[in-house]
Amino acid sequence: MFAGETNLSFEISKSTEIIDTFKRQTQIEGAPGPALSFSESKKSGLTNDMVLKQIFNTAGPTPYVPTNIKVLRKATNTIETVPLETYISRVIPGEIGDKMGGKTVEQIKEIYRTQAIAARGYATYSTYFDRKHGSSYDVCDSTCCQVYNPNLTNSYATTATNDTAKKIPALVSGSPYNWNIKYVHAFFFNSCSGNTKSCKDVWGTDVSYLVSVSCPYDPTKYAIPATDGHGVGLCQDGTAGYVTNGYLYTDILPHYYTGASVVTGTYN
Ligand SMILES: [Zn+2]
Ligand SMILES: [Zn+2]
Repeated sequence: MFAGETNLSFEISKSTEIIDTFKRQTQIEGAPGPALSFSESKKSGLTNDMVLKQIFNTAGPTPYVPTNIKVLRKATNTIETVPLETYISRVIPGEIGDKMGGKTVEQIKEIYRTQAIAARGYATYSTYFDRKHGSSYDVCDSTCCQVYNPNLTNSYATTATNDTAKKIPALVSGSPYNWNIKYVHAFFFNSCSGNTKSCKDVWGTDVSYLVSVSCPYDPTKYAIPATDGHGVGLCQDGTAGYVTNGYLYTDILPHYYTGASVVTGTYN
């Protein structure tokens, strides 16, 4: 069983590097076939409300991620075309809030990396599948999508974006040269009171990877028992708590996006 097929009672654990699994499987499975183009992959996909399946004939699962993102700047009503990674480095500082008190430099870096992968996953899903603003641009620059502010960049955000370039959370099954990849609508929010909420309870749509999970290190759990934000997906305060306790983004993202893996995509 591949990591992407982990069942709903998934327990967070220190994960091994996923690429090692691919290498081992590749040695067993044999030679590659031709890779499918993005449009071919989309045609072969199976849609339901919130996910789409892609098949790639590659040794490791390599979902496409957009090279550029078209962002509506609401203040000027103009559309800015920004490279995906530049966009991510300008989104994280506005979305991450102030969770860095008492953290080491390495812990702060890991919190930023985790947020970068979630934000990239959210932006990729918005661009390919959600398209709630129609066809002329991919996302707007407000909390409606993700807060984008070119003036808010910092060195942690830039470094974390580079460290995690092309990485997104995704549900992966299959085997080398015949991968099934489901993109994750990577919702995140500020804090919860010890458990996240399911997508079904909040928005009425049952999504396998957006179920209620424990959030044992959320400091809010011990202070004000309330959820700040919609409560679905990755909890940012809980992430900071996990990092403080030695966990990495390869542990944290599969916990909040149940059954997902962190995979390195390819630009489309
Ligand atoms: Zn929007
Ligand atoms: Zn939490």
